[in-house]
Amino acid sequence: MIASLQKVVGQSFLFLDEDTRIKYGHDETEDYNFPPSVVVKPGNTHEVSEIMKLANSYKIPVVPIGGQTGLSGGALSIYGGIGLSMERFNKIEIDEKNLQGIVEPAVITQVFREAAFEKGLFYPPDPSSQGSCTIGGNVAENAGGARALKYGVTKDYVLNLEVVLPSGEIIWTGANTLKNSTGYNLTQLMVGSEGTLGVITKIVMKLLPKNTYNILMMVPFFNAGQACEAVAEIFRAGIVPSALEFMERDAIDWTLKYVDGVSLDIKEEVEAHLLIEVDGNYPDMLFAEAEKIMGVLEQFKIDEILFADTEDQKNALWKMRRAVGEAVKSNSVYKEEDTVVPRYELPVLLAGIKAAGKKYGFHSVCYGHAGDGNLHVNIIKGDMSDENWSTEVPKGIREIFELTVSLKGTLSGEHGIGYVQKNYMDIAFNTTQLQLMKSIKNIFDPNNILNPGKVLPDNL
Ligand SMILES: Cc1cc2nc3c(=O)[nH]c(=O)nc-3n(C[C@H](O)[C@H](O)[C@H](O)COP(=O)(O)OP(=O)(O)OC[C@H]3O[C@@H](n4cnc5c(N)ncnc54)[C@H](O)[C@@H]3O)c2cc1C
Repeated sequence: MIASLQKVVGQSFLFLDEDTRIKYGHDETEDYNFPPSVVVKPGNTHEVSEIMKLANSYKIPVVPIGGQTGLSGGALSIYGGIGLSMERFNKIEIDEKNLQGIVEPAVITQVFREAAFEKGLFYPPDPSSQGSCTIGGNVAENAGGARALKYGVTKDYVLNLEVVLPSGEIIWTGANTLKNSTGYNLTQLMVGSEGTLGVITKIVMKLLPKNTYNILMMVPFFNAGQACEAVAEIFRAGIVPSALEFMERDAIDWTLKYVDGVSLDIKEEVEAHLLIEVDGNYPDMLFAEAEKIMGVLEQFKIDEILFADTEDQKNALWKMRRAVGEAVKSNSVYKEEDTVVPRYELPVLLAGIKAAGKKYGFHSVCYGHAGDGNLHVNIIKGDMSDENWSTEVPKGIREIFELTVSLKGTLSGEHGIGYVQKNYMDIAFNTTQLQLMKSIKNIFDPNNILNPGKVLPDNL
């Protein structure tokens, strides 16, 4: 098998040494490391196809690997096998005539956004990890980001995909058109499938003309629940901000210690902040929107609003917001849940999370894309015993997920299910629904070789 793989990718793109296997054995999920038995780095679609044919005939697991920033363990080689690093797929083509980008999966999200920007175009999805995650990983996870509430998530930009199926066959899933009512939607089936149905080798993305102005404000709240309440009220006043992010006090304090060059004077009684951005092409309209938002905020107990006047100030605030995840991770081992509810239910969700923490003895730090009801719940291990971490915390997580579903929300808004959330899927879906998903997986991958042990619960 190794000799055959070597023939496909060439000796210099196949790795068996321990260091490389460990390097490709983790993502950003907790402190897990599941090294693949061998790492290969194909250079084109044909090579991916040959690898899949070999893996299928030997019935060996293959795990597609992107930027390894995943937070649900999707890129972990939990059964060993072939770690399929896509890093050599890094070309970008911008089709200015059609406002489209033709991108290979290993292109770093920020690099693609900047390439579009240089041509006066805008690719809105902006995960906080945009400096290190890849477009392929974003498509596989249906990634979101701060701008999703106004502009949508990755799925809203994917028009067409080149995919290598587990059998090794190569297909295009749709057409490079803005609308398409032709047959079942294979493109959107592939988006968010977490590397379990096919290996994405090329992506056709829709682009928008870029906006020229924005206003960014940071609002301190004396009550975290009220910050959550304010989120829905802003939309009810007829404003759709381009970003609306929530950060609990600990998230900000830890991040300010973690990042250089950002300082904020925060009163002791402040419990949370909202970071609010409006964007568009006409400054007068933006000022009117900002004033309307301030009118809404008057109903709540807030401290003085900080307006970012310069590009540097804006960048500093965004740098701080994007670093929250890493700052939390630098403090302690943690589990990150990616709860999402209709936004009006956010205050109920936050209160429920805190109640679960009290009941099961854990501290949580919450932050996230509140504008689309997406709250990241970081459960901190700190000095909790290993026993409580493995027995009590999962009970608390189950209760939090049950609450999200009872509020008509679901388990993950953008990080996916992967390895760590799969055994909670019974909360969101009944057996009929899960069996349908399993049947889809079986049709694409009857030998269960592509990223096995992910998404679907173990007992299905
Ligand atoms: C600090 C931090 C902040 C984050 N912020 C956000 C955020 O704001 N929004 C958000 O949505 N996510 C966020 N994430 C999560 C993560 O960055 C995203 O899930 C991202 O989409 C993962 O991309 P990746 O390239 O790192 O993929 P990986 O972690 O390498 O892989 C993720 C999944 O994609 C599959 N995959 C990768 N490439 C392919 C391919 N070519 N074909 C098929 N399957 C493939 C893998 O098998 C795996 O299942 C954050 C993560 C961190 C660490």
